Amino acid sequence: MTQPNIVLPGPVETALGLLEHAGFEAWVVGGCTRDALLGGAPKDWDITTSALPAETLSVFSDFRTIETGLQHGTVAVLLDGMLLEITTYRVDGTYKDSRHPDEVTFTRSIGEDLARRDFTMNAIAYSPARGYEDLYGGASDIEAHLIRCVGDPETRFTEDALRILRALRFSSVLGFAIEERTASAIHALKERILHVAWERISAEVLQLLCGKDVYRVLQDYRDVFAVLFPELEPCFDFPQNNPWHIYDVYTHIAHSVESIAPEPALRLTMLLHDIGKPETYFTDDRGIGHFYGHPKRSAQLAEAIVHRLRLSSAMQQEVCTLVEYHDYPVEPSEPVLLRRLHKFGPATLRHLLLVKRADCLAQNPEKTGADLDKLSTIEHMLDVLLKKEPAFRVADLAISGGDLITLGMRPGPQLGAFLESILEAVMAGELPNDREALLAYVRDKGMKP
Ligand code: ATP
Ligand code: MG
Repeated sequence: MTQPNIVLPGPVETALGLLEHAGFEAWVVGGCTRDALLGGAPKDWDITTSALPAETLSVFSDFRTIETGLQHGTVAVLLDGMLLEITTYRVDGTYKDSRHPDEVTFTRSIGEDLARRDFTMNAIAYSPARGYEDLYGGASDIEAHLIRCVGDPETRFTEDALRILRALRFSSVLGFAIEERTASAIHALKERILHVAWERISAEVLQLLCGKDVYRVLQDYRDVFAVLFPELEPCFDFPQNNPWHIYDVYTHIAHSVESIAPEPALRLTMLLHDIGKPETYFTDDRGIGHFYGHPKRSAQLAEAIVHRLRLSSAMQQEVCTLVEYHDYPVEPSEPVLLRRLHKFGPATLRHLLLVKRADCLAQNPEKTGADLDKLSTIEHMLDVLLKKEPAFRVADLAISGGDLITLGMRPGPQLGAFLESILEAVMAGELPNDREALLAYVRDKGMKP
């Protein structure tokens, strides 16, 4: 198949030229070739070469080089402000731990280097001098939107189980299907993903969740997700028996994930928001299903999961808060919004409204129209309200604890509680946030001998 030439950035072309001029072969390879063939702009350019690391270093002796990846054969070179990773052709040795090759050996054969790569779409090399080296039909798989292992899928996933998650991540992000034998091997070997470090699992899962085809991947590979998150399994096919819902709990979850903006914390929140439902289920005497208290139970289960995923503590907290309060009432009323701003802060409150919208979008569309309209009204009201820079924290008040002390109050918890009560009165519209008015109010009410 003839493919168009790839337009390379200047520094990449220079690096390839310098290596070739010194008598070595050099190609761009991997994600950049794949993305270029897909018509996108690659985010980084990886170069593969027949030059040994020491030879690469000497070719680029006039440039800044970084040797941190040397034992894997990678030299990073800074060329005209662009950091390029140049890796020697490599054969990965045997794998004992389902993740790391026991040793890597260098080779002078591009064919051997391409054979170690995970998927055909990632095993295409391109050089302006020699064109494409596509030994595994990667270009036609890209055209067919197919993810296929290089070589025998079971062997490749047994060597390195991270490839299982990479396959699902690429499937979700690129919207590609997974070729049949590759897919069967994923289902068969899914338990091996637990050999992968949670940091790596986490990075792949978050990217996967943000992909455009996340719904399909969550459904078709739910058995793989159950390995990572056994807490999800009770949700599979769990009927809700409630007129507000047309989906079982897991299908509702999967639809809610695709219904929110592709930001990791938001997508993960939707994945976890209802995991407490099966445990809290009960049917009333009319046969209707309810899940009282499920947000709290979901948040408890979510806490263990965000910890397992090694997320930053800020992200752990954000996700657990959003899960716990996803059903918390919010009304189109300024005093209510101020109280919610007080409780959550502007950023989390905005996220909470997005979570509520995604939750609605994954329910019974014949019922949720009014709720979705109400959410739009609230979002608009919140924007208008925040532009007015209203007081919703004690620090926003026109008076401070210092003023109360000057007026004779003793420092301590009572002073804090008094300030909170002033804030509540201001948020309820009972007092203006005006220094003189507040001081007058304090003099009148607050001064205790
Ligand atoms: P991304 O767009 O996420 O950067 P990528 O394909 O470039 O995708 P990298 O992790 O940057 O992914 O890896 C670069 C290349 O190295 C891949 O295209 C693939 O050829 C190879 N590769 C990466 N990880 C593996 C792996 N676990 N097993 C085999 N080959 C891999
Ligand atoms: Mg890459």
